[in-house]
Amino acid sequence: MLILGGTAEARALASELVETGRAVVSSLAGRVAEPALPAGQVRIGGFGGADGLTRFLVDNRIIALVDATHPFAARMSANAVAAAAGARVPLARLARPGWAARPDAAGWTWVDSHRAAARLVGAEPGTPLLTTGRQTLDQYLALADRRVIVRVVEPPAEPLPQSWIVVRNRGPYHLAAERELFAAHRIRILVTKDSGGSFTAAKLDAAADLGVRVVVVRRPPVEPTVTSFTDVAGVRAWLDA
Ligand code: NAP
Repeated sequence: MLILGGTAEARALASELVETGRAVVSSLAGRVAEPALPAGQVRIGGFGGADGLTRFLVDNRIIALVDATHPFAARMSANAVAAAAGARVPLARLARPGWAARPDAAGWTWVDSHRAAARLVGAEPGTPLLTTGRQTLDQYLALADRRVIVRVVEPPAEPLPQSWIVVRNRGPYHLAAERELFAAHRIRILVTKDSGGSFTAAKLDAAADLGVRVVVVRRPPVEPTVTSFTDVAGVRAWLDA
């Protein structure tokens, strides 16, 4: 079985499968220095597009593919759909639920893209905190002359506008520290993706406590034909079947 990973859910699935004696390979993109490694066999780096992944599935006699990548890793997920069809390997998607069910979500502003989020922030006064990931920052350059706080795990690859302040932190994130960050930088707008889960949710609690406006970028659409699960137990039952 091949798990496309890079998420806590992917690691949890790998651990459970290894414990039950399954032969599992997890794949990581290789973006993060010193990544948390899943149990079982691990490979790191791109496959070379959908064709490369198709070859990997065939050459390694993979019998099931689980796309447990982050909800915003849209290219990898599209490649998984194409490769699974090409190699005739069953595919399941594992993605944690988004944050829309939170009680405070009704007060957030939801947008379809980072550029739309940037436009919205551009029309508002006050310092924004961008927590959308370093790969998205080029889509916020309309805010180049504004004071912007950018929180990232890894340092941005390209130089950023001089008025932007980079805060590096790979979590775990806690409410008290998030409140301090918001206060220290006088944050008035939080921009986030709808990542879901609890690992990065403390910023949403801090925003609710402090009355900070929240702008949320919706998830990219999921391929409707793919069997999808929101928890590890669902995928395990699918694999057993
Ligand atoms: P992406 O834009 O969808 O993928 C770009 C390319 O990176 C893919 O075409 C593939 O290269 C390679 N790739 C992505 N995930 C891979 C994996 N698990 N194993 C091997 N190659 C992979 O992906 P992304 O948004 O940059 O995310 C990269 C990784 O970080 C994923 O594993 C994802 O789960 C994790 N992650 C992403 C986010 C996020 O916000 N996007 C947040 C947390 C974790 P080839 O075409 O050469 O195969």
